[in-house]
Amino acid sequence: MATVSKCRLSYHRRLFLLLLGISWVLVGCFVAYQYGREKYFKIERLDARLQLLNLRLLDELAAGVRPDSLMAGNAGRFPGLRLTILDHKGRVHYDSRSDTTRLANHLNRSEVRAALINGSGYTLERLSESSHEHYFYSAMRGDSLIVRSALPYNLELSEVLAADRGFLWFMLGVTLLMSVAGYFATRRLGHNIVRLRDFAERAERGEVIAESEPFPHDELGDISNNIIRLYAQLQKATAERDRQHELMLHEEQEKIRIKKQLTNNINHELKTPVAAIQGYLETLLANPGIDAARQRAFLEKSLAQTGRLRQLLTDVSIITRMDEGSQLISKEPVVLNDIIAEVAADVQLLPPERRLRVHCDFPGPVEVCGSPSLLTSVFRNLTDNATAYSSGRDIFIRLLADDEESCTISFADNGIGIEEEHLPHIFERFYRIDKGRSRKMGGTGLGLSIVRNAIAIHGGTITAHNRPQGGLEFIFTLRKHS
Ligand code: ADP
Repeated sequence: MATVSKCRLSYHRRLFLLLLGISWVLVGCFVAYQYGREKYFKIERLDARLQLLNLRLLDELAAGVRPDSLMAGNAGRFPGLRLTILDHKGRVHYDSRSDTTRLANHLNRSEVRAALINGSGYTLERLSESSHEHYFYSAMRGDSLIVRSALPYNLELSEVLAADRGFLWFMLGVTLLMSVAGYFATRRLGHNIVRLRDFAERAERGEVIAESEPFPHDELGDISNNIIRLYAQLQKATAERDRQHELMLHEEQEKIRIKKQLTNNINHELKTPVAAIQGYLETLLANPGIDAARQRAFLEKSLAQTGRLRQLLTDVSIITRMDEGSQLISKEPVVLNDIIAEVAADVQLLPPERRLRVHCDFPGPVEVCGSPSLLTSVFRNLTDNATAYSSGRDIFIRLLADDEESCTISFADNGIGIEEEHLPHIFERFYRIDKGRSRKMGGTGLGLSIVRNAIAIHGGTITAHNRPQGGLEFIFTLRKHS
């Protein structure tokens, strides 16, 4: 394609040559027409002068003046003048240059024929058969005679009759000037077209184009600027689409990675309680004589492990449900005060030494559109954690902000808090600070991860920090409408 465009004349050249061709042809035609007109005008003028002479000669002939004396009287005014007198039949009676007896009939001479028909006529240039010279002839018909005066068509006369050369040079100069102006005008136009063509070629190759110099303010410039703007928009849209695509791909890969990690962790987490239950049951079977108190203790421990297994399975199922189809989770109007009251009521069922006081500071009912079960697990997990790990005495649930769009809630305890180094990780899956204690408390390491995901599904975020007065505080937002 590049070679084709190199062999081809550039747009500028073609346009310039076309313009040049048209203007030269136009000027040529104009000059030729003007030249012809001027020459015709000069010939007519010369003919008029000779016809005036003819008229005078006819009058003088009629008055009886001899042709010789007529010739002598006018030769001074018309150098080289040749006078011929003939009758209407073409017979020559007098010729100032030749012997009339040797002259043929002149009826076929064009000026004579014209004079007979129209009264007068002329012939621009003809070789005289008798004198072998070129002449300009003007003839006039009288009542019985025809008078013809002729001037030699020599260099002098042809120069007189030639059109004015000055005009020719003037037109040539104007045309040259026009050509130079045309060259620069077409070069400018051609330059912009070449720029547009280069742009199109680069766009075809998919190059990133940042056009800096704008096109001029004319129709072509407007079209070019629009094309460039559209291309820039297209580039932007394509880049945005690619970015979104990459993001989606990354999210998809991340999901797969997390799923894999979850499966590995679940296997690992399941092994411990299952192995413990297996151990207790094997001991019981292998020692039938074991005393009743120890038998009971083993069975109680097995029961506790099954409780852990159940909790683990519940948490995993919640997490999987959230991962698999957060958009499929059905939402309905939920009053948060009711959920908090429900969770607080459950706390009342705990033995007094483990029981924390729940203080809820909500000025009025707060309703959000959400999943009742997920919102319950948010408050239940936070409450269970405060009960299990904080060593505090109170839980404070406060409404920090509430508007049409969202609400912000603080969930705090007055316990020991968490060492700063752990804070950034507590929302990770299976992250536990004190593994032994967590397991003992029936923790799975999934609680806060469930909380964060559930809040994200409700269009919110959660953060955690240690309170200056002691204890851990979670601050989270929930969007009211999905
Ligand atoms: P688990 O399901 O095992 O309870 P979580 O994800 O809920 O795990 O919590 C992660 C860790 O954060 C817990 O192991 C615990 O050590 C710590 N933690 C959570 N809540 C509190 C709290 N209110 N006070 C002190 N430590 C806490």
